Amino acid sequence: MSQSAATLDAVGLEIEDSWSDFVAGRYREGKSESEFRNYDAEVVPTVAAFYKDNHEFQTLDFVLGKEKQYFALDKGKKSIWEAAEYLNTLVDESDPDTDLTQIEHLMQTSEAIRKDGHPDWMVLTGFIHDLGKVLCLYGEPQWAVVGDTFPVGCAYSDKIVFPEYFAANPDSKRPELQTKYGIYDPNCGLDKVHMSWGHDAYIGHVVKDYMPEESLYMLRYHSFYSCHQMGAYRHLMSKHDEEMFKWVVKFNPYDLYSKGAAKPNVAELKPYYEDLIAKFFPAKIDW
Ligand code: FE
Ligand code: FE
Repeated sequence: MSQSAATLDAVGLEIEDSWSDFVAGRYREGKSESEFRNYDAEVVPTVAAFYKDNHEFQTLDFVLGKEKQYFALDKGKKSIWEAAEYLNTLVDESDPDTDLTQIEHLMQTSEAIRKDGHPDWMVLTGFIHDLGKVLCLYGEPQWAVVGDTFPVGCAYSDKIVFPEYFAANPDSKRPELQTKYGIYDPNCGLDKVHMSWGHDAYIGHVVKDYMPEESLYMLRYHSFYSCHQMGAYRHLMSKHDEEMFKWVVKFNPYDLYSKGAAKPNVAELKPYYEDLIAKFFPAKIDW
């Protein structure tokens, strides 16, 4: 683990929480697009700075390179629990007394799902949904790990947070990548669409042979807010994607709203999760 990655993470974890809060607040208060934009850059300048980098550097070529690098799954074998403990070595330095550890966030999400009586694969999905953040520990910068995700290789939706920052993305100067469909065919299906690189794509790929399809949708698209909350990019989605996105929408509140709940007792819950993991996964999988 490199020192810089561990230190950077403090900012990145804040970003995800802040953006989740934006979205939660927007839907609670029914804020309009313009109201929302006016206030977010002022209130949380670190979020604006984060998205400035994210929107500038997430080009189609960058994403294709990261897919090639990480979809090979040659970063070693680990059990799910080992990956969770590895991720837990990331420390949020911004407020160590009140913030949850990574495992606590995962368990808070999964326990909220369990309490509502959802199927066990969905509970497990809650537990693994952010394990892709180990990308930070591989040395990836924050803007390539967390935050809102969006398709690359076609026009940017104005439903994406801080759309003005896309002006600095080199793809903005490539007209063939700025049409409505860009490199894609109408309603081609999201499995053909390259999403900005981050923890969603990575964990979705790592567990693709073990979890049900509904789970893979939740994992792959949980940060695709412009789509699952704002309805953008329907023109790239297949009928099947539309069906499956009901699960993405169902998952979202557990990631957002479980954060205020009491801290889960990790040691006490560990045996339950080890059994649950063993039901779906072999002892170790490729990362
Ligand atoms: Fe996440
Ligand atoms: Fe999360």
